[in-house]
Formats: sequence, C-alpha cells, structure tokens
Amino acid sequence: MTDPAAASPVRIYWENILFLALTHLAGLAGIVYAAASHFSLATLGLAAGWLTLCMLSTTGGYHRLFAHRAYRASPVLRIFYLLFGAASFQGPALRWASDHRIHHALTDEEADPHNIRKGFWWAHIGWLFYRTPANTAKTTRHQGTFRFGILLAAC
Ligand SMILES: [Zn+2]
Repeated sequence: MTDPAAASPVRIYWENILFLALTHLAGLAGIVYAAASHFSLATLGLAAGWLTLCMLSTTGGYHRLFAHRAYRASPVLRIFYLLFGAASFQGPALRWASDHRIHHALTDEEADPHNIRKGFWWAHIGWLFYRTPANTAKTTRHQGTFRFGILLAAC
C-alpha cells in the first residue's frame, strides 16, 4: 500500500470528514430513536423507498447516464436523477461525472482519484478525506468539458 501522503502534500478535506462523521452520527441517533420509540412500518417503507430511489439515481443516473452516457433519457428522468442524486449527497452531477471519467481514463495511475494502488481504503473511502493535487488538476483539466454542463439535465 502506498501512503497517499508520500506522493503529494497532504491536504485534509475537513469539510468532508465532518460531514461524513455527522451524517453517520445522525444515522445512529435515528436508529436509537426508532428503537426506543413507536414507529410505523410505513416509516420504514418510506426509508427503504427513499434509499432505493437514491441508489437508483446514483447508479442509473450519475454513473450510467451522466458519466458514461450509456443511454438517452427524458428531461423529466434527468431531473429525477439530479434530485435524488442530491438527496443521496453525491455532490454535483458534473463533478461526479468528471471524477468518474477521470477514474476510467486513468485507472490505477497517479491521477486516478480512486487509485487502488494507494490501497483498499484509499480507493473505497480514503480519497474522500484528502484534497490532492490530482483533484485540483482534474478540475482545471475538465472544466472545458463541462463548460455548458449546466445544460446536462435539459438535453
Ligand atoms: Zn463507470
């Protein structure tokens, strides 16, 4: 496992760390609250449905449609994906698609944001905790690609 800090200066992404910590704490608090109080099966069903729509928007929308352009979709479906992708805290679709395209174009190279050569934890979650020069460079490099990206949902 390569130490990510050895390859570049470490810039910890405190906002992401704080956000992830707080959302997980809120999730735990929600489980404790639900266990300690009366909750209906309808609430559980709503949570399962919401989770399903969020996962569908990430996999079918952000990944297959916006990053890979694997199929065409109506503006209504694109807006649905954008709304539930936002609800699942995936960040802006343009950023997600840009990161993913870089990941496929530069798989396992230094600039791959999810480079498995930096270790299992880096590839799966560690990359969320650091701001790397590669992350900064990719933003500049791909800005032109998404110059008119705001129209992504409309066309
Ligand atoms: Zn992909």
